[in-house]
Amino acid sequence: MNFYSLNRTAPEVSFKEAVIKGIAPDRGLYFPESITPLPTSFFEGIESLSNHEIAFNAIHQFVSDEIPNDELRAILTNVLDFDFPVVQLEENVATLELFHGPTMAFKDVGARFMANCLGYFSGGASQNVTVLVATSGDTGGAVANGFLGVPGVNVVILYPSGKVSDIQERQLTTLGQNITALEVDGTFDDCQKMVKTAFLDEALLTLMQLTSANSINVARWLPQLFYFLFAYKQVKSQNMEIVFSVPSGNFGNICAGMVAQQLGMPVQHFIASTNVNDTVPRFMRTQEYDPKPSTATISNAMDVGDPSNFIRIRHLFKNDFEALSQTLSSYTFSDMKTKEAMRNIYDHSGYIADPHGAVGYLGLKKYQENHPDTCGVFLETAHPVKFLDVVEETIPEKISIPAQIQKVLHQKKKSIKISSYEELKAFLLQA
Ligand SMILES: *Cc1c(COP(=O)(O)O)cnc(C)c1O
Repeated sequence: MNFYSLNRTAPEVSFKEAVIKGIAPDRGLYFPESITPLPTSFFEGIESLSNHEIAFNAIHQFVSDEIPNDELRAILTNVLDFDFPVVQLEENVATLELFHGPTMAFKDVGARFMANCLGYFSGGASQNVTVLVATSGDTGGAVANGFLGVPGVNVVILYPSGKVSDIQERQLTTLGQNITALEVDGTFDDCQKMVKTAFLDEALLTLMQLTSANSINVARWLPQLFYFLFAYKQVKSQNMEIVFSVPSGNFGNICAGMVAQQLGMPVQHFIASTNVNDTVPRFMRTQEYDPKPSTATISNAMDVGDPSNFIRIRHLFKNDFEALSQTLSSYTFSDMKTKEAMRNIYDHSGYIADPHGAVGYLGLKKYQENHPDTCGVFLETAHPVKFLDVVEETIPEKISIPAQIQKVLHQKKKSIKISSYEELKAFLLQA
């Protein structure tokens, strides 16, 4: 399949080229030229399909011809080797746990899928690819883990110094090999800006093949649509209207959910739940897109002031605000409300939510005030252990540390401090 740039001034490219380039030369995000709905029989019979079959059917049209079917199946078997359970917490409220992967964040699926695709595409290529990625917390660990040891691929991760949790920092600074962590004196938005600048730096681009592993990359973004189908499969038998609440930062995950909807998944409504970084909730109130610098919160993987994928969502709805507002509600919540929700969930059901999941819970509850008869599913995007300090100061329970996390706790952090784009460029050129 071909992908076009949302800025419309760059040529269309194949899936392979979109993955390798990351972003179009005109700075636009790539978008699939078509989204063909799956047959209704696919959704009617989804309970009898394995997760691998669901994923294969859903992603096939986007990569077909460029990755042979057998290879694609093998990639999906690699990527989807853990569970995605829906856990019922209250009447009409369930959570979809996306944290059972190797770094315990939902980004594991996208990062591993992209790493596998890039590994496949770079097989036989003489030039190395450098993956450049900015992280507000979880992307870094998932990308580092997904790309570790992939031949022909070097990974450079930028993260804001002092603004990610200890466990997150260790997950991205301790692996070594083809992974380098750059510790930026600044915010996530500063990191993201540096990455975007690098992708526009002609002098740099003639010297190296750079790509991004942020959710702007189609191979990171699209496989996230699997989650919604896996959840749909599990709650379909309740025979109620399903609504998803997605804790959102860069809006890649929820946008992928909307692609699943366009594939025919019978879900009418999505809720984008944010922390105080409320650019999208404000847009849904005012119809004005007015990005702001990001504010640090306890749900730091969502500290994004200018969400890069929102433009894809607007495009999916052909920039028709009325149509978009039929499908999307968006609410913002403070850290205080988030902690209150973590305590409420714990008191009512004994369930320990992480701060991101708790924001998703709040958005769902708010929507259900006016839509009580819905089967609500909020996405639990990280294991609570990844935000140990906040969780343990909020609820009266100690969290036991899973094996995946134990492993990195004793490793030594290795990072290189930088504070400007010039320093980033100098690093890339000497590496
Ligand atoms: C990245 C992340 C999010 C936000 O996902 P987007 O696709 O950027 O909206 C939410 N929760 C966690 C734990 C994350 O790591």
